[in-house]
Amino acid sequence: MNIVYSTSNFSQLTISRQKMERSFVNKIFSRSKFLILVITFTSIFPVHSQPTEVMNSSEIKLALKKLNVLGSVLYIAAHPDDENTAVLSYFTSGKLFRTGYLALTRGDGGQNLIGSEQGDLLGLIRTNELLEARKIDGAEQFFTRAIDFGYSKSPEETFTIWDKQKLLFDVVWVVRKFKPDIIITRFPSNGDGGHGHHTASAILAEEAFNLAGDPNKFPEQLRFVDTWEPKRLFWNAWTPLLESRKDDLSKYFSIDLGSFNKLLGKSYSEISALSRTQHKSQGFGASGRRGETLNYFSYLLGSKADNSLTENIDLSWNRLDGSQKVNELLSTAEKDFDIEDPSKSLPILAEAYKELSMIPSSYWKKVKLNELKNVIRSCAGIWIECISSDKSGALGDDVGLTAGIVNRSAFPITLKSIKLNNLASEIFLNKELTSGNFVSQNIKANLPIESKLTNPYWLERPHPQGLYDVEDIKLTGAADFRNEIKCQFVLLFNDTEILFDTPVYYRWTDPVDGEKYSLFNVSPPAAIRLKNKTIVFPDQQSKKINFELVNLSDNLSGEIKLNLPEGWQIEPSSIPFNFKNKYEEKELSFKIIPPQQNSTAVVSFEISTGIGLSDREIVQLNYKHIPPQTYFPKAEIKLVKVDLEQKVNSIGYLIGAGDDIPEYLKEIGYDVKLLSDDDLESAKLNNFDAIITGIRAYNTREKLGQFNTNLMKYVESGGNLIVQYNNNRDIVTDQIGPFPFTISRDRVTEENSPVNFINPNHRLLNFPNKIAASDFDGWTQERGLYFADKWDPKYETVIGCNDKGESEKDGGLLFTKYGKGVFIYTGYSFFRQLPEGVPGAYKLFVNLISAKQSK
Ligand SMILES: [Zn+2]
Repeated sequence: MNIVYSTSNFSQLTISRQKMERSFVNKIFSRSKFLILVITFTSIFPVHSQPTEVMNSSEIKLALKKLNVLGSVLYIAAHPDDENTAVLSYFTSGKLFRTGYLALTRGDGGQNLIGSEQGDLLGLIRTNELLEARKIDGAEQFFTRAIDFGYSKSPEETFTIWDKQKLLFDVVWVVRKFKPDIIITRFPSNGDGGHGHHTASAILAEEAFNLAGDPNKFPEQLRFVDTWEPKRLFWNAWTPLLESRKDDLSKYFSIDLGSFNKLLGKSYSEISALSRTQHKSQGFGASGRRGETLNYFSYLLGSKADNSLTENIDLSWNRLDGSQKVNELLSTAEKDFDIEDPSKSLPILAEAYKELSMIPSSYWKKVKLNELKNVIRSCAGIWIECISSDKSGALGDDVGLTAGIVNRSAFPITLKSIKLNNLASEIFLNKELTSGNFVSQNIKANLPIESKLTNPYWLERPHPQGLYDVEDIKLTGAADFRNEIKCQFVLLFNDTEILFDTPVYYRWTDPVDGEKYSLFNVSPPAAIRLKNKTIVFPDQQSKKINFELVNLSDNLSGEIKLNLPEGWQIEPSSIPFNFKNKYEEKELSFKIIPPQQNSTAVVSFEISTGIGLSDREIVQLNYKHIPPQTYFPKAEIKLVKVDLEQKVNSIGYLIGAGDDIPEYLKEIGYDVKLLSDDDLESAKLNNFDAIITGIRAYNTREKLGQFNTNLMKYVESGGNLIVQYNNNRDIVTDQIGPFPFTISRDRVTEENSPVNFINPNHRLLNFPNKIAASDFDGWTQERGLYFADKWDPKYETVIGCNDKGESEKDGGLLFTKYGKGVFIYTGYSFFRQLPEGVPGAYKLFVNLISAKQSK
């Protein structure tokens, strides 16, 4: 990184951009080409969403007390939302332990209640929701490489998809690095936790508990972390389960999570609700419980305890050799703290920092130095920021930054130097920071062309099903890490030198939301914005691929082309472009001609520019409850040629909880209208060849209860109603179909489970498309969910399937005639298969839509 510092202008540059451009032509900014992390840090910090705020006096008081507690606890479960946030809050702010939550997954396989993101992007949202939750309950967040693949019935099935040894590696790493005195699991390992991922998390926690101290297990980790033996392991029992089993609660350890923290003015159960409410993509808003709330813990492994979870664990400074002086200083600081003027503590805290710095390196030294640093910063009311003039900078471009700092105490502090990351030489200022005087420093930096993009580390490389592919072992367990630029400030408190740092942010003022920040992104020079990730060709007709080309550099010209496999044709072969302004966008399109035979292909984009090639897409997520997210995955589209016979045209679609099926039906040529509640009331339903209800429509659309009779009349007079899966709780009508059937929790999670053609001559398997066994190849995540388990004999079953070791589930596709029309219920998960371009799923879904036309 080449950096020139100047207080007044940006005139100097060590290497000109032109020189860079010449030397790096023909480089591709791809995941695989840039294995060297050019912007590096000495340790892995979590990504923050804005410059760190200082603590108020009562929070400082609590932090001072916490400085004198040397204990830690790690909570382990499987998903975002599994964690008991009241327990985390109790340990962080009540017991004053260093507290962590290790979630095996980022929740990538769940359903999104606030948008249409699924898979990797849903995992990115949930990762940030967890980080927001941790800001409230004060715990730290960790993950393994496991990818949530939806519901799993057993840990055995789970471990066929997740490589158990690799996951054990991750859990052992987190235990060795975090060094918990106690580990708490949310679920038991006996299967009572239901979901296979849940049981797997308990199995892994128990095995890691026993193995983390063994130097022969994963010895390759010992270059970076030491072995560690936690004291004991507990299961955080689920109170309703204990009560339903009529367990003797006296044999469990109990904690009152309703106890009140006077310094925070809240009980742990109240803090818990605020934290849990961050899980917005799951709709988990929670209310605080007030009053006694007992929670139970069952001892499982390690040193026996008689009275409390933490008994016989030394929580004092005695754990750290040579810390006696530090202990004395920090005890005095806590005792003498002046809530009216925290800065009075600065001399003694600075002395404690210096003493602690001189003790030989160890785990607790590192943890406590970090805590102490934040207490010192808060006592002085120091605000630190480094703000970019632009929200992103392209590789090879120059970026203007302004570092700023203000000391809001009377204590004399000197700003010794400022530095970007740890590559460039420091700029020495030796400037005294007088109280209330905001000091700023302009910095001009050039973003090295071989730098990595600011992508979330776990999404940096393509990944198969199962686990993310993370190259750097040191990132194991990290919640988030990106190749962000950081600005370091070296401050002198008397003669004690303390380094503070902050990521570079872009800042703006929103007319509604006020001060807003986003992480400064290192971007490719240009990127593609895609509308659809899958394009289906139902016949020999050519189709246009429409996309936007986004300029992320200054004036930029070049050409864009698509890399197509053999058999597919494209017109034109490339498109030239010329941009004047940064962030300018152009709508472009290529014409694609499919091959004659059915085929599936992945095409990639290639943007050639004067400063090299880019093969990236730009994805931006803007949700109010998490920081704005910008991510640059490889720009790819899936092309699917599948000959489809379609017998009808117009479809009415009743969106339920949210799915993208209408878009994909339009893609293959249907005329799709989204139906409002008003449409349900009117008699115009008869205009549609078929009406389809979206996933969980009968759970989410109140009016369907009242107007389902209109849908039945529609069927009776010759329509075709297709109802996709609904949850069996909170259904808005007693009877969805013309004849009774009940929806169960039956699901088939093995997406490759064999499918039995119960009724091979049935119209749904033959008209207008002939369905073969091969049409069930390549399905994703699952076969389906919420199958019916009982139905009126007037319904016909068509196909059945089951997970290994279970009986066949035949209620996933029910068909019946009613009046002049037909009614279909299906739990098969078309909402996952159509966006993924699964050809057989298209053929079968088109047959459902055409069911009325067959005799
Ligand atoms: Zn869970």
